[in-house]
Amino acid sequence: MSERTLAIYGGKPVRESYLPYGTQWIDSSDAQAVLKVLKSDYLTTGPTIELFEQKIADYVGAKYAVAFSSGTAALHGACFAVGIQHNDQVITTPLTFAATANTILYQGGNVIFADVDPNTYNISPQKIEAEITENTKAIITVDFTGQPVDYGRIRAIADKHSIPFISDAAHALGASYHKQKVGSLADMTMFSFHPVKHITAGEGGMITTDNPVYYQKLRDFRNHGITRDQKRLAVSDQPWYYEMQSPGFNYRMTDLQAALGLSQANKIDSFLKKRRAIVLKYNEAFREVDQITLPYQLADTNSSWHLYVMQLQLDKLKATRTEIFQALQKENIGVNVHYIPVYFHPYYQQLGYQKGLCPHAETLYQATITLPLFPKMTDEDVDDVIAAVMKVLSHYEVPL
Ligand SMILES: *Cc1c(COP(=O)(O)O)cnc(C)c1O
Repeated sequence: MSERTLAIYGGKPVRESYLPYGTQWIDSSDAQAVLKVLKSDYLTTGPTIELFEQKIADYVGAKYAVAFSSGTAALHGACFAVGIQHNDQVITTPLTFAATANTILYQGGNVIFADVDPNTYNISPQKIEAEITENTKAIITVDFTGQPVDYGRIRAIADKHSIPFISDAAHALGASYHKQKVGSLADMTMFSFHPVKHITAGEGGMITTDNPVYYQKLRDFRNHGITRDQKRLAVSDQPWYYEMQSPGFNYRMTDLQAALGLSQANKIDSFLKKRRAIVLKYNEAFREVDQITLPYQLADTNSSWHLYVMQLQLDKLKATRTEIFQALQKENIGVNVHYIPVYFHPYYQQLGYQKGLCPHAETLYQATITLPLFPKMTDEDVDDVIAAVMKVLSHYEVPL
């Protein structure tokens, strides 16, 4: 059998070991940082939490940061802080991880999906504006793949209607919009430290904000809604006294997680540099391939490149996206799909969302494949991905 026979038809795969689509990069300095905290007095609610918060706040240029046990918990905190209640409407994108929309449901809110822009794949500012009603209580955008949303236009829409603007920037640590870092552009911005994200804390999340009221609410919310702040206590004559003043959760990050996150935070820029170099190689290799639409970049933004999403021109291919996906997997390339539109999930279907709601998001979902992209990838790994894509697409290309 020839070298070029696809692995899916029994040929030799492009590589022997499976390459994941994303994974962490932990070194001995990270391990030492965690070990140091493990041997200290505080495993949780200790001093490392604030160090990590300060580090991220400084990095993104925000006044405050509040660490949480996960990005999802952090986003739930943001929904609480803006006061989402039963039947309030919150506008968000369908092209995201389900957690973005789920946190609206946690507060009893109604999720209003606004379609994406077919070029940037980010929520469309016009579609946001079209969905605003007197019941709209927040907008939650997602910087999909790390490309900042149009913060200027969305900020203007939010201000015009006096609606809080929350940014799910789980993909966008280190990204910038008009020279400003994501993290200081919305009223609250969420980052995630899951292992596939830019830096990891094992699990973990954070909200950055310039707003002291939100800051206070977020801190209470992650700790059962409890405060010990003497100035805010109704009864304050007892030194041991504390009050639970709002319905909170145990969403605290441990100091072990914070130590890992803090150590990893020293590498944000070096990790970004690697991600951007890999993207340049992909773009260079795929620029002349008719069957691929390269990721589009909005002018004056700098993506943090969490994901490399390859859009297929399916009319120029003899195979479906699923067949191409499977063929790449058989070449041992850990491809993925981002995302199944949130309202396709059975739970959202039960809530009454209909397919066809956001046609651009649905079309993208049919035609995209996410390629591996993470800082620890070697040049050889990158070459393997390119070789596998070329091998599979040339096999299935429609002859001109
Ligand atoms: C990862 C992710 C989340 C959830 O973050 P966790 O830390 O895993 O809870 C939310 N939204 C988006 C877009 C994400 O990628």
